Amino acid sequence: MPRFEYAPAPESRAIVDIAPSYGLFIGGESVPPVDGGVLKSVNPASEEVLAEVGQAGPADVDRAVRAARTAYREVWGPMPGRERAKFLFRIARIIAERSRELAVLESLDNGKPIRESRDTDLPLVAAHFFYYAGWADKLGYAGFGPDPRPLGVAGQVIPWNFPLLMLAWKVAPALACGNTVVLKPAETTPLSALRFAEICQQADLPPGVVNIITGAGATGAALVEHPDVDKVAFTGSTAVGRSIARAVAGTRKRTTLELGGKAANIVFEDAPLDQAVEGIVNGIFFNQGHVCCAGSRLLVQESVYDELLAALKRRMATLRVGDPLDKNTDIGAINSSAQLERIRTLSEIGRQEGALPWSPPCQLPDRGFWFAPTIFTGVSQAHRIAREEIFGPVLSVLTFRTPAEAVAKANNTPYGLSAGIWTEKGSRVLAIADQLKAGVVWANTFNRFDPTSPFGGYRESGYGREGGRHGLEAYLA
Ligand code: NAP
Ligand code: MG
Repeated sequence: MPRFEYAPAPESRAIVDIAPSYGLFIGGESVPPVDGGVLKSVNPASEEVLAEVGQAGPADVDRAVRAARTAYREVWGPMPGRERAKFLFRIARIIAERSRELAVLESLDNGKPIRESRDTDLPLVAAHFFYYAGWADKLGYAGFGPDPRPLGVAGQVIPWNFPLLMLAWKVAPALACGNTVVLKPAETTPLSALRFAEICQQADLPPGVVNIITGAGATGAALVEHPDVDKVAFTGSTAVGRSIARAVAGTRKRTTLELGGKAANIVFEDAPLDQAVEGIVNGIFFNQGHVCCAGSRLLVQESVYDELLAALKRRMATLRVGDPLDKNTDIGAINSSAQLERIRTLSEIGRQEGALPWSPPCQLPDRGFWFAPTIFTGVSQAHRIAREEIFGPVLSVLTFRTPAEAVAKANNTPYGLSAGIWTEKGSRVLAIADQLKAGVVWANTFNRFDPTSPFGGYRESGYGREGGRHGLEAYLA
């Protein structure tokens, strides 16, 4: 059969104006850092510097927390929920109106395909604000008592894999409940959070309700340790989560941690294999595998192993790796050279430990950070690639013979964030889901998100839930 090539279909970046430099967003305005330096954010697909952003030092963190405290005490805390809701609805509508601009900016700063930022990230960001806007005047009916109170000032630290979506997960419920926030985006992806600051101004949000302080890990640590923060919300790695748990131990700060994962995606012999292949591809190659709930361990029933693997390889050969702004691109750039290095190192360890890598032929661009979609076969549970989070487009394939073995292998991990089950039998879905130690279990699908549905982990994947009615609890006293 002739193979038709796609013509390039690049999204225009003309819709996004990026200033050469950005200050910190404190008390409703952009201010230069007083005791920090500057950081550069690059486009990981080209290594081009997109902008310089301020690096908040301890005095800046203090200034932001004070602005948030004042806004909490004087404006946002006393404001009736129905009034807060208006601001949140306004923010949600502006996000929807400006979603193309935000999607292009997100793809530029993060490296994710425009198809994903446009069709997944941005619709979900707006949906989160709409959803929590709806709760703001109904908190007394959420199941946390007749008159639940906000906590105060929330210090929030987020990672780079879904910059604006993680911001929405943090900011929307906090504001709906009457808290004010100081948020630190990740060092490599600060630009959409700074654009969100402009949206707060556009929505006439009272100054100090949302404060965005850019910076690296030290800025996050200073925020978490600030004595006047009432609530700490963190999404990121388990290692940093541990250090945050230590920092807040013995204080009165309430804390939620959303950490890493090593999800099992389990394919039973009766599964519709073509559908399962789509789910496997979505599970591990969506967002370059930079997904905490990625289905990074494929568990296949032995009887269908050969057939499934052949179908998976055929499908992987059609994945298009390259320019994130091209609407045909399936897999974009790895977010940073540091992350690329981690993926390379762990993959090399996989090879050394005896697993067999396979990638489809694909041409990677010369500049930027890239990693071909890869599967490892011959993986044993003891291999590091089966135990550690790679956070890249790398899948470990293992097999099982019985449902009991599948459950035992799936649960054989220190994490417990998500899992997937593929089978035609509804009763098996329920029976297996019941035995999996994971916060989210998808059946015959993967990586589905909805603001009404709680998300969070067990064990080393953290504690607390974000999303849904459950997500309010973390921000209410
Ligand atoms: P990370 O290194 O833990 O960074 C997360 C955030 O914490 C970044 O803003 C980071 O700043 C900041 N940070 C670093 N050191 C800190 C410290 N000592 N105190 C306070 N903040 C500090 O994680 P990452 O590599 O960016 O993100 C990948 C990880 O996030 C993966 O493990 C992934 O599974 C997890 N994740 C989990 C979820 C979930 O919902 N469970 C969602 C997405 C990602 P810098 O950017 O400047 O380093
Ligand atoms: Mg960047």
